[in-house]
Amino acid sequence: MISVKDLHKSFGGVTVLDGISTDIEKGDVVCIIGPSGSGKSTFLRCLNRLETPDSGKILLDGVDLTDPAADLNRQRMKMGMVFQQFNLFPHMTVLKNLTLAPMLLRKESQQTAEARAMALLERVGLADRAGEYPSRLSGGQKQRIAIVRALCMEPEVLLFDEPTSALDPEMVGEVLDVMKELAQSGMTMVVVTHEMGFAREVASRVLFMDQGIIMEENKPQALFDNPQSPRLQSFLSKVL
Ligand code: ADP
Ligand code: MG
Repeated sequence: MISVKDLHKSFGGVTVLDGISTDIEKGDVVCIIGPSGSGKSTFLRCLNRLETPDSGKILLDGVDLTDPAADLNRQRMKMGMVFQQFNLFPHMTVLKNLTLAPMLLRKESQQTAEARAMALLERVGLADRAGEYPSRLSGGQKQRIAIVRALCMEPEVLLFDEPTSALDPEMVGEVLDVMKELAQSGMTMVVVTHEMGFAREVASRVLFMDQGIIMEENKPQALFDNPQSPRLQSFLSKVL
């Protein structure tokens, strides 16, 4: 579904991505781990072209997103993104947050957009919050809404950038449970995370990024139980 070839990106002469290549198949759950500053967020942001890579290719369903002629808005609709800081619109109710993009970008009727939003809210146990404003929700609820908002666009792949890092510890589980359920339903997901338990249990593959490269990648059990590179061994000894 997504093929990344030799991606490079630097900011002000500092190399942040130094040749990333990987393939993501339909139904894959790829977890990305690695130290702070290793380029994980920049990689995700390049994937949906929030950043412009300096060189390399990103193919989504065979369309090269680095081609200036690519219809980025159309391609971006295939990718949902969930951020650490939720990014819900504070002045809109939950339901409005969920129906805005489908109505504006997919030209859906309010009725169609609301019906899907309500069904998805039901799925994450938040149907009774539809009329609330985000400020009245807990962090865990906000993040579940942010996931639903991404799902309302019916994306082919969901990108998560540390979706539980801003949450109080007691709310991490409810968000990971939703992500786990999504993974089991066959959703293609790329998840930057520090939740090693989640990566081990849910990932089909784990990428370890360090200094702008994928230093190691493997199935979770092999990667966690038998890390090859000294940098991954050292990283795991600090986080596990
Ligand atoms: P990670 O998500 O792994 O912590 P990031 O991709 O956020 O890493 O950042 C990698 C490096 O790139 C960091 O040194 C960061 O300061 C730098 N960086 C990221 N975005 C920008 C930007 N827009 N401008 C300048 N430097 C940036
Ligand atoms: Mg980051």
